[in-house]
Amino acid sequence: MLADRIGIPQLRDMAGRSEQVVADVALADLERIADLLSDASGSDSGGEKALHVEAKFADHGQGFPEVECHVTGQLPLVCQRCLDTVEWGLDLKFRLAIVTSEADLERVTEKFDAVVADEHGFDLKDAITDEILSDLPLAPAHAELKDCVAVAEYLADVSDPAQGESEKVNRPFADLGNLLGGDGQNE
Ligand SMILES: [Zn+2]
Repeated sequence: MLADRIGIPQLRDMAGRSEQVVADVALADLERIADLLSDASGSDSGGEKALHVEAKFADHGQGFPEVECHVTGQLPLVCQRCLDTVEWGLDLKFRLAIVTSEADLERVTEKFDAVVADEHGFDLKDAITDEILSDLPLAPAHAELKDCVAVAEYLADVSDPAQGESEKVNRPFADLGNLLGGDGQNE
C-alpha cells in the first residue's frame, strides 16, 4: 500500500536513508485515471487491476528530496477507432524533485521535473497520476486496424459473399438514400 500522503519530515528521512517503496496500486485508486478506463474491461474478470510502482527516494544534497519512479502495468483504455478496450502497456520512468514552496522551484535545476508538496505533504499517487496522464496518447487506438474488433467484423460482413446470400442481408447504408431524401422533402 502507498500512504495517501507523506509528510515533509518523513520524506526527508526516507530520502536520507535512500528508502525504496515497492507497491501495487489499484487502478481504481487512481481516480483521474480510472475515469479514462474502458468499462468493458470490468472488474468482474477476477483480481483487481493494478499498476506496479517502484519509488526510490534520494537526497543528493541539493536541498530537496528526490523520488525516482518506475511504473509498469496495463491500462485498459478505450480505442478511439472502435470504442472497444485497448490494453495500453505502461512502462514509465520519471524523476521528481520535491520542494515545499513555489519559491524553491527556482532552485531546482532544469534536468529535474519538480512537484510542490503542500502543508499535508507529498502525494505519490497524485504525482504518478500526473505523469501517466502526460504520457498517455490523446486518442489511444489499437496498433493495427485489424485489431479493432468492431471494424473487423464490419469488414468481414461486407466482404463475405456467404453473408450476402443469407436471408439477413447486412447493408448498413441501405437506408441512407431514404434518409437523405426525407431531409430534402422537409425543406
Ligand atoms: Zn480499436
